[in-house]
Amino acid sequence: MYKRVLAWIGSHAPPGSRRWWAALVPAAIVVYLFGTTVYVQSQSTYYRVVMDGRPLGYVAGQETVGDAVALAERNASREYGFPVRLANPPAVEQIITHERYETLSLQALAERLQAAGDFLTRATVLVVDGQEVAALPSKEAAQSVLDELKARYARRLEASVEGGRLDVRRVTIQQSIRLEERDDVPADRVRDAVDVLAQLMGGKQAQRVHVVRAGESPWTIASAHGMTVAELLGANPGVDPQRLQPGEELRLNVPEPWISFESEEVLTVTERIPFATRREYDANLDAGKQRVKQEGEYGEKQITYALRRRDGRIVEQRKVEEQVTRQPVDRILVIGTKPVAGVSTGRLIWPLRGRITSGYGPRWGAMHTGIDIDGATGQAVRAADGGTVVSAGWDGGYGYAVQIRHDSGLYTFYAHMSRIAVDVGDAVAQGQVIGYVGSTGRSTGSHLHFEVRRCTSPGCAVPPLGFLP
Ligand SMILES: [Zn+2]
Repeated sequence: MYKRVLAWIGSHAPPGSRRWWAALVPAAIVVYLFGTTVYVQSQSTYYRVVMDGRPLGYVAGQETVGDAVALAERNASREYGFPVRLANPPAVEQIITHERYETLSLQALAERLQAAGDFLTRATVLVVDGQEVAALPSKEAAQSVLDELKARYARRLEASVEGGRLDVRRVTIQQSIRLEERDDVPADRVRDAVDVLAQLMGGKQAQRVHVVRAGESPWTIASAHGMTVAELLGANPGVDPQRLQPGEELRLNVPEPWISFESEEVLTVTERIPFATRREYDANLDAGKQRVKQEGEYGEKQITYALRRRDGRIVEQRKVEEQVTRQPVDRILVIGTKPVAGVSTGRLIWPLRGRITSGYGPRWGAMHTGIDIDGATGQAVRAADGGTVVSAGWDGGYGYAVQIRHDSGLYTFYAHMSRIAVDVGDAVAQGQVIGYVGSTGRSTGSHLHFEVRRCTSPGCAVPPLGFLP
């Protein structure tokens, strides 16, 4: 190099002065070597990288810092799974010094930036009633959480119905919901849809104050608010559970849903329609016997209700349609009426056909305990139903009288007869002749005095017309 410099100076020197110039060359070289070169080698330039007031290290070139920030952001984006940027870009100070510092490589600085840095990202913040509840990577993810919450609410309602079909037509969220897209959301606050869904399903702990009333115990208070006694006492460390005073205030941690739903539903239920029993009477079947001619069958109807519910509680229920899908079938019972001695049919017949000349009720200041049926002396008097003769003979003012006990616990009583045709203990069939019309005892003319009784004495008499066809 020395020779080349001499050659360059020599070739550019004016002619005739060559020797004079040549003497200056060594001096210039001495200045160059001991001045400029020595000076450069002892003073070095570094760049100090500082983040949030904390030094991260030194680099040799300023452009390394920008490259390292870009690399740190790329690496962090890969780890988060979405693009992020450094919230707090590092400050760079130029330092010129005689000292020697160890410098960081691009990769090493990027690692330090990633470890010390806070990252921001563009995300969608879910705001419920003005309160920021969660941040998600995208509007679609946030919307999918809301949709899934509604779908789960609907599925839970639909699964709760037994013996019917519930169709949830519409689910609305009662709180005001906003999805705000922001580009300055801390990256570590952003969570995926599955996480946010779990958070919102779990509910939040709300603080409430309960004022103790007389007669309450920690157990009754805790169980009334869905807490355990341990949870209640844990939330109220200064309270002595043995000495709870009325008026004392307790803090309650009550789980409260983040989201409240209102739903419109259509509920269709199938209900049974009961069948009726129809009685038919058969004169060829013995009294006391019966048979089923036709089994009854339940009918079915579909009832449709419109429901409105808030958080699972029904707040409105309206019947909108009722449709019979199957008519019930009557049960038909055939009852025998063929008279059998000693057997009651349960239905009375007229003991004598004739005009009623005096009804049941007060008469002449006394009680007429039966009905008088007009008849001619000697006309047959028939048993109103099958049964057993419990009295037959003279009965004071009633004259010749007969009383029959029936299976249902009823008694029939026949009086003023001219003659009796049965004896005590006889089993008589419905329609069997038990005596003949007369005017014996306290009677003003020939007729039958007929009574229906609940026991054997006249005091048990009841109005007979209700029993007669
Ligand atoms: Zn009478």
